[in-house]
Amino acid sequence: MPTTKKQPAAESGGVFFRQDDVPEALIITDPGHQILAANKVLLELLGYSENEVVGWPLEKIFSNVPSSLDRIVAGDAGVAEFEVKARTSGGKLVKMEYYATPIIRHDKVSAVLYLGRDIRVKSLVEAEIKKARNYFQSIVDNSPFGICVIDSGRRIMMFNRTAEEITGFAAAEMVGRPISELYLEAVDDAMMTPAIGKTTPRQAKFHKKNGGEVPVLVTTNLISEPGGSGNLIIESFSDQSDRQRVDQLKNEFVYVAAHELRNPVTAIRLLLDIIFEDRRLAIDPVLRGHLAKIQEANERLLHLVDDLLEVSRTEAGRLQIQVAPQNIVSHVADLLSEQRPNAVSKGVSLNYEPGSGIPYVAADSMKLKEILTNLLANAVKYNIAGGSVTVSHEVRGNKLLTKIADTGIGISEEDRKRLFQKFWRSEDLAVRAQSGTGLGLFIVKELVDRMGGEVWAESKPGSGSTFCFTLPLAG
Ligand code: ADP
Repeated sequence: MPTTKKQPAAESGGVFFRQDDVPEALIITDPGHQILAANKVLLELLGYSENEVVGWPLEKIFSNVPSSLDRIVAGDAGVAEFEVKARTSGGKLVKMEYYATPIIRHDKVSAVLYLGRDIRVKSLVEAEIKKARNYFQSIVDNSPFGICVIDSGRRIMMFNRTAEEITGFAAAEMVGRPISELYLEAVDDAMMTPAIGKTTPRQAKFHKKNGGEVPVLVTTNLISEPGGSGNLIIESFSDQSDRQRVDQLKNEFVYVAAHELRNPVTAIRLLLDIIFEDRRLAIDPVLRGHLAKIQEANERLLHLVDDLLEVSRTEAGRLQIQVAPQNIVSHVADLLSEQRPNAVSKGVSLNYEPGSGIPYVAADSMKLKEILTNLLANAVKYNIAGGSVTVSHEVRGNKLLTKIADTGIGISEEDRKRLFQKFWRSEDLAVRAQSGTGLGLFIVKELVDRMGGEVWAESKPGSGSTFCFTLPLAG
């Protein structure tokens, strides 16, 4: 197939075209792979002249001639796609991607047309992408957290090495499986769909490959799928087994220590009571003053020991709750009387006018007293001279809402978020001036939760606080 500089054209099945107008690197060979023509793009890319290459075997330019070309030459295939390294006139190799197609004349393959392009940039980009992907994978795999990416159909798309180590399952067996299969408990929609950008750490249990289970702390993040319409869920989780064991030991220790402390502390209380009540003892007034201070300190110690015992009971799941119908009105009235001496000494008035018809609640008698005592004592303790405490009730659906409103120091918005945390006490000087353990409200919340209610606080700093809790109505 002759080509001239004046008329660079190739003929394919009777169709003529100007090969230099083709934007790809073009070569035409005869069926024996001998070059018949090449266009300007190819010649400029590899640095040859047309006269030079015509008549060369294709192998002189291509580093290898793929075997798929045999089928093209035999007329058995319409197109073959392959990558080659093309040799430049300077001996360098250029990575190219080629398509080959036969030119048929009189039902026979008369020539083969090759269209190709330089893919050095593409290869470089691909290599960079691969490097970035490997880099990303190794960061993900070496994360101290198990990481699991879930698609919008709730199926696992990615399971990192730490996730494999924590669960014992291989990524290969987890990818494509519903995430619910990993969880021991039922996975509900709400827990799997946090708002975008929000994280929600929660305790959960995962199955292990060996048939066991592993406690985990899971953080779920929702991100919008890059370029996609749905959202991806990323769950990162850490193995909590060791932490749970340590917590259990710590809790056990606190329980045993508090339990052992309770005996001598109650013995001191009893002895002091005897000393104060025994009229035969003529106690010197100075000594009486010292003893009263000892008694006060001992009461504080007893309070702390009892709080610690209650906290360790709650945390070890040892809390025994026996629900029965309770007349909350009489409990409040009794406990307000207990608070009265304290309130009087602080100049705080106590108001309670429940009226008639306040329904009974379903609660544990002792625990209800504990809740009320803590809230009433705080309302007096964090009050101001001349202030007041008002208790009221309201039926809300199938619950009874009890409000304990004080006119005391109040709680800032920031402090309100931490109010029910264990050992938390406000930095406020008025709070620090009072003795306390920071355990009372934590216990109140645990008890109210366990009895099926809710507790919260409303407050404006400087104008008092209202602690509210609900309990189910007795059936
Ligand atoms: P304690 O009273 O022993 O410090 P609590 O757990 O009962 O522990 O209360 C935790 C903290 O909450 C208190 O230290 C105080 O900062 C705040 N608080 C509780 N009740 C009130 C209240 N009625 N008014 C203002 N602050 C309160």
